[in-house]
Amino acid sequence: MTTTRFAPSPTGYIHIGNLRTALMNFLIARQSGGEFILRIDDTDPVRSKEEYVEAIKEDLTWLGLHWDRIERQSLRLDRYAEAADKLRDMGRFYEAFETPTELDLKRKKQLNMGKPPVYDRAALSLSDAEKDALRAERGDGVWRFKLDQERIEWKDGILGDISIDAASVSDPVLIRGDGQVLYTLASVVDDTEMGVTNVVRGSDHVTNTATQIQIINALGGNVPEFAHHSLLTGPQGESLSKRLGTLSLRDLRAKGVEPMALLSLMARLGSADPVELQTQMAQLIDGFDISRFGAAPTKFDEADLYPLTAHYLQSLPLEAVRDRVDALGVPADLAEPFWLMARDNITTLEDLGGWWALCRDGAEPLIAPEDEEFVAQAMSMLPAMPFDESSWSTWTGTVKDATGRKGKGLFMPLRKALTGQERGPEMAALMPLLQVVRGR
Ligand code: GLU
Repeated sequence: MTTTRFAPSPTGYIHIGNLRTALMNFLIARQSGGEFILRIDDTDPVRSKEEYVEAIKEDLTWLGLHWDRIERQSLRLDRYAEAADKLRDMGRFYEAFETPTELDLKRKKQLNMGKPPVYDRAALSLSDAEKDALRAERGDGVWRFKLDQERIEWKDGILGDISIDAASVSDPVLIRGDGQVLYTLASVVDDTEMGVTNVVRGSDHVTNTATQIQIINALGGNVPEFAHHSLLTGPQGESLSKRLGTLSLRDLRAKGVEPMALLSLMARLGSADPVELQTQMAQLIDGFDISRFGAAPTKFDEADLYPLTAHYLQSLPLEAVRDRVDALGVPADLAEPFWLMARDNITTLEDLGGWWALCRDGAEPLIAPEDEEFVAQAMSMLPAMPFDESSWSTWTGTVKDATGRKGKGLFMPLRKALTGQERGPEMAALMPLLQVVRGR
């Protein structure tokens, strides 16, 4: 069985970059009838906040990415301590006491000598007495995992064959001096014990994956299949890292982006397949293929979400949006014709308010000076109220006969006079809804 997980740290709102990770893991699990775990990576007690845990759940629920199980790392600290003991017993774990400044200095020296800045393992040669002295002076040290200096290889679901020389990687710190278990160890223990079979995450984790494979092997677990998706950039290829804060899912939701529009884009962006709107989750699941994704950075343009949102809304029956229509105060008998008239002329549901205001209050007429006489004459010919679907054609027919105007010269001034705009819904559908003219 396939088991995947989405493992956010609750230190902020999830954004468009996280969404890609969540969605891919979700789709892989659903494709095979497997399990999708929401794992809250909250081993950092200072930065982790309960409000973000709630926000993550809310955002995933809004998107329809339902999890089968939720796990919290903060409730599993004993499991991590056990794994740490195991690594210690195996001689794969060692305490190191360098201060950040000392480490920095070492790195600078190495770089100056043209060497990669890899931790020199000085702590490995400390005697017990030296360690005791350092501990007394500086407090507990950090615990590093001793990498086997060999090549670490895996077939990545997106990047293909990967081979990393462990000698070019520092022995990772798995436990901090204050005892806090770090992500690398917690993640490995969880992936192993929860039977995670597939891990999709961002390509910023590739080096982590190399070290994690060695830790999993040391602990005797099964190595999952890994896939690393490329990082998202802005439309010009610029880094999104600073802007991700403004691309949080809740901001996009507040701007009226529809979940299926967002999911449709993110399930295809960066793949060889075209982006197309999917209106059902089942279609997204069936159409997803991770092997179609490429390693190159993926350009994301928020603007692409709006045509997809508009397209999605056009597909909806009134039932799907009834709450929103009711909230505008549209009378029940007008809800259906109002929605059918408006849905082709909105980008997001926020735009409905403008069309309803037009129907209810009318608009400030837009009349070009040269059309003033013509519009005044036409207005005097408006058919009797209430209007119906044929009112527009009856009216324009009468005006045409009386004035000799036709085509755009006939229709456009009348549309602008009634709606105050050059573009908008079919006038035949709009006229029966014009409350002001109808005098309700
Ligand atoms: N909490 C980690 C992160 O958000 C999880 C990475 C992973 O998927 O292993 O980067």
